[in-house]
Amino acid sequence: SYNSIIDLREKEQVVQDYASFLKQIDTKSENDTRSLQRKQSESVEGKTLFVKGNYSTKGEPTTCGSKALFGYDSPISATVVDLLENSGALILGKTNLDEFGMGSSTTFSAYGPTKHFLKTNDGLEAVNKLKKHVDVGEITSNETQNSVNLEEDRCSGGSSGGSAVVVGAGLWSDTGGSVRLPASWCGVVGFKPSYGQCSRYGLVEYASSLDTVGILGESVSTTKAVYKTMAKYDSKDMSCLPEKARSALERLYNSTKGSNSVASDHEKPNLKGIRVGIPQEYYIKELSESVVQAWKHTSKILEQMGAEVVKVSLPHTKYALSTYYTIAPAEASSNLARYDGIRYGYKHTDEIPDEASGTSSTSSSSYAAGRSFMNKYAYTRAMGLGPEVQRRIMLGTFVLSVGTLRCKNPTESAVDLLLVPTGCSTAPPLSAFSAGDHENKSASSDYILHSYVNDVMTVPSSLAGLPSISIPVGISKTDGFPIGLQLISQFGNDDSVLDVALKLE
Ligand code: GLN
Repeated sequence: SYNSIIDLREKEQVVQDYASFLKQIDTKSENDTRSLQRKQSESVEGKTLFVKGNYSTKGEPTTCGSKALFGYDSPISATVVDLLENSGALILGKTNLDEFGMGSSTTFSAYGPTKHFLKTNDGLEAVNKLKKHVDVGEITSNETQNSVNLEEDRCSGGSSGGSAVVVGAGLWSDTGGSVRLPASWCGVVGFKPSYGQCSRYGLVEYASSLDTVGILGESVSTTKAVYKTMAKYDSKDMSCLPEKARSALERLYNSTKGSNSVASDHEKPNLKGIRVGIPQEYYIKELSESVVQAWKHTSKILEQMGAEVVKVSLPHTKYALSTYYTIAPAEASSNLARYDGIRYGYKHTDEIPDEASGTSSTSSSSYAAGRSFMNKYAYTRAMGLGPEVQRRIMLGTFVLSVGTLRCKNPTESAVDLLLVPTGCSTAPPLSAFSAGDHENKSASSDYILHSYVNDVMTVPSSLAGLPSISIPVGISKTDGFPIGLQLISQFGNDDSVLDVALKLE
């Protein structure tokens, strides 16, 4: 009913796979079962997962939420999907997304919008469950009833909104920068590993220099288990980190361990020796009061755990959003040129109006045939691609710019981690994105801008390829909806963000 799942696998197949997994447990002795359970918290064996609709999978449709790919069957499965299945994960189906991953609201999908799961009185129960460990203000049942407009549909975030909504039931999905925003708005964990850690083979391209496999999980430990299964070199993705680079990074971070690594004492959270930076440029006027409160509150918790929390300055932060919306559409315009009605999915076959076909305006029949072919191509793209995707293709076609992003040596860095908000607010009402209706091509620019501004907190680490995790830290006193914060670390130091996030869980 939230419109989050776009394809479910054959029930019989899933039930069969799960039954054979349970049988495996049944035949084990009690001790074995216990060790299997322990192993299970660290592995993906027996875990049920969903995959975002822009991962190729053999056997079910791969549409990326676009009419352009209706009817397309992928001949391959993404490497990460294979890795998970080979490790015993059960993939249940595919989830909704903004078309080709372009959006922050999951309203730009040919399947229609995915709604937030918090709304009615069921939502109230979920709100109370989400109160968990952080008190951003007490919410009593009465208060919640008054402050939350339970009748208004909220936005699930995007582009992985469909995945974020189902993950409430313990499932996962991915994406580039936008795995973290839906995670924050839906009160779950969202992890974007360093660029190149996981293979992109089989992940349909949006902006190749930024696209990163991501994970949405109901807990940091599930998220970590999924990440560990997928973070492997793959020769089919030229941007995937080779083994040599992986071991060099491991040596680098191991050599700095002790002075700035997370103590592995699971009983007592101990962050002694860790410096956490609070970049002042992230304090922008668009931040809602409850997000600022949650940010301050979590900094205090980190201090109580022994970390040193310091103010830092990242002066280039203010350029990140415009840089992102320059690079991403440029790459998208090139990547999406392949949806021409010849090789993939949707083909425009209806009659093309006379004035567009151009057949009568020339005497040469080969010229006319060429022109009619071009019109078929243009019509396929005009009818197959949605308004947001077309907007970005047009913008990207005029952009040809590349930035060089350098990562500082971690031994010289002033801090080990950054702590920043994930979104400027809690989940906004769906109506803020309502003009994102797939059919509405002449919407006002207000909602477009609103949609782009939502990415202001997440795109800086996407541009730098840094590992970042969004974790739910509390709920807003004003509306009772979840708030997420991000922990960001140096390139390749993915374990440190996961380990500190585990301590905060
Ligand atoms: N909201 C961003 C965009 O529309 C990010 C999307 C993503 O990471 N897939 O480009």
